[in-house]
Amino acid sequence: MNIKHNVPEYILQRSARRRTIEIQVRPDSIRVLAPKRVAQARIDSFVVEKTDWIRTRQQELLLRRSSQLAPVLLEQDSQLLWLGERFKLCISDRATQTRVQLLPDGIKLELSRRIRKPQSEAVLEQLEHWYREQALQLFQQRVNDWSGLMGVVPSTVVVRSYRRKWGCCNSRGVVSFNWLLIMAPLNIIDYVIVHELSHLREMNHSPRFWLEVEKFYPDYPKAKVWLNDQGRGLQWPPVQSDVGNRLNFQGSL
Ligand SMILES: [Zn+2]
Repeated sequence: MNIKHNVPEYILQRSARRRTIEIQVRPDSIRVLAPKRVAQARIDSFVVEKTDWIRTRQQELLLRRSSQLAPVLLEQDSQLLWLGERFKLCISDRATQTRVQLLPDGIKLELSRRIRKPQSEAVLEQLEHWYREQALQLFQQRVNDWSGLMGVVPSTVVVRSYRRKWGCCNSRGVVSFNWLLIMAPLNIIDYVIVHELSHLREMNHSPRFWLEVEKFYPDYPKAKVWLNDQGRGLQWPPVQSDVGNRLNFQGSL
């Protein structure tokens, strides 16, 4: 029986080590992880069997996405992400000058009493300014360390706002990074740095490029998965975190 046309579209990943079929549902895609030797027809029928389950889960995830990615208002005690950890925001106004400090128990924002705009606007503006400054410093320092190890030297390091990119590298040797990465764990930042610096050797995503990345960052597949799954949580203005925005179905054979 040919059931092919009823099979929902999915991305298949086979692995020699896997013993079961697993369906991973994301809001706009389905990924199927399967053992190396299972017949395609067996996988298709497994997916067909689970079609209702898949559709329901996708609806759930879409709902969750729309409710959870609403921007949060930054106010006293709001949570801020910093290098993958959450810090409490502590705001004090009527200070003599504006400054931001990272303290062990939180991020302290002092607003100058001369600021005339609404506090919510000033808070966003000052924090963004501070985040960008910190991001640039951190990226320059880490790039410096990594380029020593990797033997490639960029001409300039910059941080920018990108809507859909974490980093970028051009033929003049300028490497740029999305400043929002300052909210990600340091090991993820390091992956993006190694990725961009590897482009100084290989200006493409060929197997040779990935070998170069792997040489200095063997765990890179994990970092890619992290960015795919959690990267949407790195936003400005901040959004509610949506950890767990993925549902798995473990199927046995
Ligand atoms: Zn790349």
